[in-house]
Amino acid sequence: MVRLHEGFRPVSTRADEQIRADIVEVGRRLYARGFVASNDGNISARLDDRRLVTTPKSVSKGFMTPDMMVVVDLDGRKVSGDRDASSELLMHLEVYHQRPDVKAVVHAHPPLATGFAVAGVPLDRAVLAEVVTTLGSIPIAGYGTPSTPELPAAVRQYIRVHDGLLLANHGALTVGPDVYGAYYKMETVEHFARISLVARLLGGERLLSQEEVVRLQNLRGRYGIASPAAICLDDVLTSASTSEEDATCQVVRAPDAPGARLVADPSSGVAAGGRVAPRPSTDPDAEIRLTYRELTSLIEDAIRSLK
Ligand SMILES: [Zn+2]
Repeated sequence: MVRLHEGFRPVSTRADEQIRADIVEVGRRLYARGFVASNDGNISARLDDRRLVTTPKSVSKGFMTPDMMVVVDLDGRKVSGDRDASSELLMHLEVYHQRPDVKAVVHAHPPLATGFAVAGVPLDRAVLAEVVTTLGSIPIAGYGTPSTPELPAAVRQYIRVHDGLLLANHGALTVGPDVYGAYYKMETVEHFARISLVARLLGGERLLSQEEVVRLQNLRGRYGIASPAAICLDDVLTSASTSEEDATCQVVRAPDAPGARLVADPSSGVAAGGRVAPRPSTDPDAEIRLTYRELTSLIEDAIRSLK
């Protein structure tokens, strides 16, 4: 039997060279934006229906040159290149096997999105119209030891229906129709994480209602926005649970509020108008916070009432 990689040494075409140049530039941007530190992260792209090009192992993505890239076949066997392929090649191969439409994969550790991945908080709330129409939601794939088959197994559960994933206690993964398309999705994931964090620090998000999400889903069709799966709605806002089943749609959490577009997140105490509403606790064991001045005044009042 003739094995694919034996004697298979195609001449590098202009298109191949452009893809290598794009990977070098995207590596620079990932590093410059702090989406990776040291030698973290990896980028790959399809050259044709038999070959991929990937970033090399143990190199800072901010300082790569086109000749460092490694060409492999779809089974991960090296076709050409002086270096070893990315240590996360198995995860990239899994994506290409599951998604024939995907032409490029970017993996990085952007700090805000990775913070959500570490906290176990998926970016799946209906908050920003642009995120709903493009990525839908960004779930968290379960933890897998980096560079082992555990990571592709975790990614497999979601990648058929999502273009962006968080990787539990690790980082993020995005895919696209070309190298820049995959990279821009990584920018969107990190931008969304930053906005979500700020909104939560300010008391919590106001959410798009289910009606509004349906309207946005319809815009996908009207503007020809490519998406691997439809949005399915869920109003269980506090649930971060991940099912063992493979995902079949992009679960977006949005409140059911007929006639409304923006709705207060009932778990945050933010009113729809944006004002943070105090929520008196009925739990006798709940924690409260007092300033030193408030505590002193309470003690003084209690002493006074004893006199
Ligand atoms: Zn990583």
